Amino acid sequence: AAKRIALVTIFPEMFTALTDYGISGRAVKEGLLEVRCWNPRDFTSDRHRTVDDRPYGGGPGMVMLAEPLYQALTEARAWAEEGGAAARSIYLSPQGRQLDQGGVEALSDAGNLVLLAGRYEGVDERLIEMLIDEEWSIGDYVLSGGELAAMVMVDAITRLIPGALGHDQSAVEDSFAQGLLDCAHYTRPEEYRGRVVPEVLLSGNHERIRRWRLKQALARTQERRPDLLEGLALSEEQAQLLEE
Ligand code: SAM
Repeated sequence: AAKRIALVTIFPEMFTALTDYGISGRAVKEGLLEVRCWNPRDFTSDRHRTVDDRPYGGGPGMVMLAEPLYQALTEARAWAEEGGAAARSIYLSPQGRQLDQGGVEALSDAGNLVLLAGRYEGVDERLIEMLIDEEWSIGDYVLSGGELAAMVMVDAITRLIPGALGHDQSAVEDSFAQGLLDCAHYTRPEEYRGRVVPEVLLSGNHERIRRWRLKQALARTQERRPDLLEGLALSEEQAQLLEE
């Protein structure tokens, strides 16, 4: 069955960036991924379709009202759980667990997802207590809304859906997949403004190429992100290539 991702957002149009382009667009078209939005404004009953109000205790900014979110999340979750599927509800928030490739892998195995994108100063805390299973952040900076964060999360998850990439091996070779950064890539022409492609890549010797790429990945990781190597159990070959 397709992975279902339900989104609760006051800006559903933003998600066409995900559903209409590139790898994620193709995954939607091919039925590997189903994305649907619920707009809390559709669950209001006043003339202005109000979804926010002033914060108790005073201070700047507005807070998202619990009730429209409650109804939107409940409908979204029912869709995500249709047919007895497992689902979890996630609030995108700078206070959540920070997303990394390990987190993306965990979420890609986690069944269907309901993602709540906040706006303003955030959402009424009681709504989080009642309906949210987990909070996730995409990094230590503050965005104006959870939509871009949700799209970052869904894009990264989609790459791990079997069949979503043209070539399933590419996800395995991407940065972080094996705890290392990716190697450098080259395409035609062989010589570009005086710069040549490393000779080994033209050799046709697959074993030499594999070793060169692995060595590159290790060297880059050591140079750019030594912190990644610390937690890693290197194979004998990797340890040797890193020494060379
Ligand atoms: N006052 C909130 C705080 O400091 O925790 C930030 C509110 S932020 C302006 C509005 C919304 O953007 C949040 O409700 C959340 O959904 C989203 N957001 C902001 N930064 C984020 C991040 N780093 N990761 C995920 N979502 C984020």
